[in-house]
Amino acid sequence: MELTILGSSGSYGAPFGGACSGYLLREGDTSVWMDCGNGTFPVLQQYMDPAELSAVVITHEHPDHCVDIYGLHVLLRYGLEQDGLPVFAPAGAEERLGTLVASWGDTFEWNAVDDGDKARVGTVDLRFSRTDHPPPTFAVEATAGGRRLVYTADTGPRWSVDAFGSGADLVLSEASYLHDNIPIDIHLSAHQAGVAAREARAHRLVLTHLWPQVDPEASVAEGSEAFGERVTLAVPHLVTEI
Ligand SMILES: [Zn+2]
Ligand SMILES: [Zn+2]
Repeated sequence: MELTILGSSGSYGAPFGGACSGYLLREGDTSVWMDCGNGTFPVLQQYMDPAELSAVVITHEHPDHCVDIYGLHVLLRYGLEQDGLPVFAPAGAEERLGTLVASWGDTFEWNAVDDGDKARVGTVDLRFSRTDHPPPTFAVEATAGGRRLVYTADTGPRWSVDAFGSGADLVLSEASYLHDNIPIDIHLSAHQAGVAAREARAHRLVLTHLWPQVDPEASVAEGSEAFGERVTLAVPHLVTEI
């Protein structure tokens, strides 16, 4: 599997290309766009033809994780006249996000996701786990070719990546804050992300969803100390094999 970071800015866009949450997961002919946060659709189009997408996953209905679905809708529906792209999202997302469009038409095939649900997209197996975050929010496990990615989505500390079992090849964890400044406990600090990944015996840890006000070098240092190995910072255009 190959993971491309389309955007990694937490909650609001950072200057200079700092798109919000968006990740492209590819394995063979299968392409899954995980979270379509603001600013990620332009980046996605630099890596692939959106007509070739296999599915979209929306982990939750905070705008920094979902609003570029509108641009995709316009392109698929009116530009390409293409129907039926599977979208995996919390129950009710079709209706709530749909209040900003007259109708989705048949552009998307909406699949409601719940805790413990599984789905197969092409050659990629997906599993979902409800995290510790106010709107229904689902972390994603993606498995293909014997390799395993866990993406935390947004979460507070009362959910951990070990919900998917130990030994993931790569954990892509939110790390909104530094540990000495946690304004609200619906997100993780880099320290908490590192501890959780270490306890779940993750092989690699990539930190994402940093608030733009957070010093990324401090976050990497804090996360690395807690994880016990050097962690990687998710930045747009980072491409890594899993
Ligand atoms: Zn977020
Ligand atoms: Zn959120």
